[in-house]
Amino acid sequence: MDPLAYRNVPPGTHIPSVVNAIVEIPKGRRNKFEIDKKTGLIRLDRYLYSSSHYPGDYGFIPQTLAEDGDYLDILVMVNEPTFSGCLIEARVVGLFKMKDRGVNDYKVLGVPHTDPLFAEIRRLEDVPQHYLKEVEHFFATYKQLEGIVTETLGWAGPEEATAEVRASVDRYLAQLRESVR
Ligand SMILES: [Mg+2]
Repeated sequence: MDPLAYRNVPPGTHIPSVVNAIVEIPKGRRNKFEIDKKTGLIRLDRYLYSSSHYPGDYGFIPQTLAEDGDYLDILVMVNEPTFSGCLIEARVVGLFKMKDRGVNDYKVLGVPHTDPLFAEIRRLEDVPQHYLKEVEHFFATYKQLEGIVTETLGWAGPEEATAEVRASVDRYLAQLRESVR
């Protein structure tokens, strides 16, 4: 298999409400894995300095460009962790807004689209409210021991989340057009 094949994965089957999530860090892990853009391999970036773990499967939506110059990040609620490189068809239910070192670094919240255990989860109100607190606490604290300040800006619903997906796909396409010019 060509490890760079992920570049050809479209951003979703039903953009902007059903997206493709490529998992880098499975739920429950403290290792911060990330895709190496040159080789397509999964690289160990670091073991989180804080003693905390990712509250869901975490990765990115391919063929997007977020405001921080990277792919748009996504956190997928799962009952069982998948694995690095796994592709999940995810339904967008919300957006966690935050800044990392002063730059917007939003996280889309999704659920596995075809999983009947998540069939009723379509909006933030459908998500256990404590889970939203866990996610907020995780992103507020996970870089503290690195001396990096993250600023959390709270949750937004699916309307704002899908608008962010759309904007990130548009930014990606604009950058692509620019690069072939
Ligand atoms: Mg990011």
